[in-house]
Amino acid sequence: MKSSRALSFLAVVTLSAGIAAATPASPVVVLDPGHGGSNPGTRGQGLHEKQLTLTIANLVAAKLRASGVTVELTRTDDRTLTLRQRVAFADKLPADLFVSIHANASPTRTQRGYETFVLTARGVDIDGRALRSDTTTPRPGVDPDIALVLDDVERGASQWEAADLASRMQRSLRDRRGKEGDRGVRQDAHHVLLGATMPAVLVEVGFLDHPIEGKELADAAVQQQIANAIAEAISEQLAD
Ligand SMILES: [Zn+2]
Repeated sequence: MKSSRALSFLAVVTLSAGIAAATPASPVVVLDPGHGGSNPGTRGQGLHEKQLTLTIANLVAAKLRASGVTVELTRTDDRTLTLRQRVAFADKLPADLFVSIHANASPTRTQRGYETFVLTARGVDIDGRALRSDTTTPRPGVDPDIALVLDDVERGASQWEAADLASRMQRSLRDRRGKEGDRGVRQDAHHVLLGATMPAVLVEVGFLDHPIEGKELADAAVQQQIANAIAEAISEQLAD
């Protein structure tokens, strides 16, 4: 009893500290263009996933920066990054939101549409146990054991916000790309998101290997349309 009350007190302290830290003049968003360098990702229409994700991320960044949001990209050129490096980059800033951008492929090349992933509770659990030792948020002056508890508490709260951001992402994409492509919000122990201490989602913008959708994704106007949708979802989430 005593320890659980102590823990909820700790949670209140952390959450209010988190809110104070998360509302500076300019929120920080990390965009993660999927793949890069020696890891090209999927391919279609002469376009590699790593190129498409960087193009879209740059368009999203431009849009958000124009409205006063601070945006950092995990990569701004064609370089190889591990999944761990991407999340560690966001944790270190620390970022308020983390959005990883990818494109899909299917074995039969017949699937199409967009979907947004959040971590499952199980993924969060694995995350907490496996990754806590080297992804702890820097907390000057805080006892390392308490810092681990604070990280876990924040991660729990982040899950709710990630789910919100994911449904906004789908709604915003639906408005621009049509409801028939809406594959919904998916839960997965997604390795890309493991270790993120802020709300984190992974958006699959479409199937690059689909004969029709692949062509659309290679079109600059469609890329801008998708970027606008992602930027709008992020802006709404930050304003909430
Ligand atoms: Zn990918």
